[in-house]
Amino acid sequence: MTPLQELRHSCSHVLATAMLRVFPETQLDIGPPTETGFYYDVDLDHKLTAEDLDKIEAEMKKVIDENQAFTRREVPRSEAVEIIRKIGQERYKIGRLADIPEGEAISFYTNGEFTDLCAGTHIRYTKQIKAFKLLSIAGAYHRGDEHNKQLQRIYGTAFPSKEELAAYLNQIEQAKLRDHRKLGKDLKLFVIDDAVGQGLILWTPAGSVIRQELQNFISAELRKQGYQQVFTPHIGRLELYKTSGHFPYYKDAQFPPLVDQEAWGRIANEGCSCAELTHRVEAVSARFAAQVNERAGREVISASRVLPDDKLVEGFLLKPMNCPHHIKIFASQPHSYRDLPVRLAEFGTVYRWEQSGELNGMTRVRGFTQDDAHLFCTEDQVPQEILGCLSLVKTVLATLGMSDYRVRVGLRDPDSAKYTGDPANWDKAESACREAAKTLGVPFTEEPGEAAFYGPKIDFVVRDVIGREWQLGTVQVDYNLPQRFDLSYIGADNQPHRPVMVHRAPFGSMERFVGVLIEHFAGDFPSWLAPEQVRVLPISDKVIDYAREVAARLKAGDLRASLDEHADKLGAKIRRAEVEKVPYALVIGAKEAEARSVAVRSRARGDEGVMTVDAFIEKLRAEVAARALPQKKPASATP
Ligand SMILES: [Zn+2]
Ligand SMILES: [Zn+2]
Repeated sequence: MTPLQELRHSCSHVLATAMLRVFPETQLDIGPPTETGFYYDVDLDHKLTAEDLDKIEAEMKKVIDENQAFTRREVPRSEAVEIIRKIGQERYKIGRLADIPEGEAISFYTNGEFTDLCAGTHIRYTKQIKAFKLLSIAGAYHRGDEHNKQLQRIYGTAFPSKEELAAYLNQIEQAKLRDHRKLGKDLKLFVIDDAVGQGLILWTPAGSVIRQELQNFISAELRKQGYQQVFTPHIGRLELYKTSGHFPYYKDAQFPPLVDQEAWGRIANEGCSCAELTHRVEAVSARFAAQVNERAGREVISASRVLPDDKLVEGFLLKPMNCPHHIKIFASQPHSYRDLPVRLAEFGTVYRWEQSGELNGMTRVRGFTQDDAHLFCTEDQVPQEILGCLSLVKTVLATLGMSDYRVRVGLRDPDSAKYTGDPANWDKAESACREAAKTLGVPFTEEPGEAAFYGPKIDFVVRDVIGREWQLGTVQVDYNLPQRFDLSYIGADNQPHRPVMVHRAPFGSMERFVGVLIEHFAGDFPSWLAPEQVRVLPISDKVIDYAREVAARLKAGDLRASLDEHADKLGAKIRRAEVEKVPYALVIGAKEAEARSVAVRSRARGDEGVMTVDAFIEKLRAEVAARALPQKKPASATP
């Protein structure tokens, strides 16, 4: 553990100590450190409240003031069971003890009256915890499995100093105001409905505007870079994913296969068991196995997966990846080196199975649309293609005001033999990734061992306005799939050659990216992305005809405009436009109607004076075309 993790984890022991003082009947599960703090999962019939947290926190302060020492003791397994019984924590700790493999040390840590089964490590004395806070309570299934009992997870954090804790708490407050789940609901940007399914995003009309504008923007940049748009279906045959290796190796992260109608009938008649069905769905023919193994140059499909043809079960998979479909488009034509690179782009929707406890608004979902593309190129073209991907990311992030980002270059682990492809090609691809990352002029780290087995990669991590980091998408070089699908092109030497593939979805998915953008902008989208760009606010019914005419002219000018026809006072209308984060409001009173003008209020800059409708339309259209970020009024110089 790092010193910070050690501090935080030790604080979770302090939490457990206090917990048992306040609620002696508590059964403890586990209390690891997290990226930003720690938690402890507890089983307690009483439902913990905010007042309880205050009480527990006060008791934790006492434990810290008692300056208890942490001591470690290693024991044999039989004695460990006895200790767990003696401290009355059998319900979960016996199971946790069983997780420790034979031959590994079993240790207990004691501080004051509290003893816990734990591998460590810890700080030496409780007083080393200078600043901590309990933050929240959430439900968490034992071992993350929804079939198990739901426990109460107490979250907290600890820092080496009071100042760091205060800064972190402030960031949490800011984050709460920006939470995309809350803003998404308030601003009606997306919906998740249990009847449709958890983790499946329904884009409302307002949210769809944002997504469509972003897609238009990204697509236009892709066209400039020579990409071609394709569309592919949401499912594909199991055999396709057996060829790519996505099935059954990643089946835990996928929706279960859709088995063929006819096969269902046959299986039912044969009285086939579930285990047998699974085996038959995952099986392949001897010919298929031989073909894939030969192309891969090693045994990627073992003999145990081979069954006679009449035992095989046909089916489909909701696509977990777009690559195999794009590969089949590439393979549908013969290619010469002169056609390369071929760049196929699709906002392609894929489905992955995430545990329900992992789901989170738009940022962790079960169905999402990647800003995906696959580049098929010669080996020599790899560096240029990576550069192209990075320049696209740079343009898009700069336009969104996210200039603070870094990249991680995932390289192979020099000591491992698990990697596919020629080491010389790997060297070239890795140096291409490294060189491309350098040209970005942003911080980058090289991470040995973080490459996929089939090629090196580049990940993007952006920092938002309140300092939180978000992992977006990747650019990944791949020597493996061209092999498995036996792709080729004819080189200048008139001989067939294997192309290299580059997978890239630099923004990850539209769901995740828009979720991040909602928080980044705190819902205050720049006018080019705002679902409603301008709202007309008539002061009274007397000017309603002119107000309607203005709204119609705005719409005719291709602006997303509406008219507030509510009967309430101007102040209320202005407030509503503010709350709904509409970038511009046009106030219309008798004077404006008379002069056929509008009084402009900018959400970012306040009052912008009176102008003609045409002048306003021209101004806003220019702002939208430039994809300008909301500009605050420059602070006036002090007299
Ligand atoms: Zn511990
Ligand atoms: Zn791919």
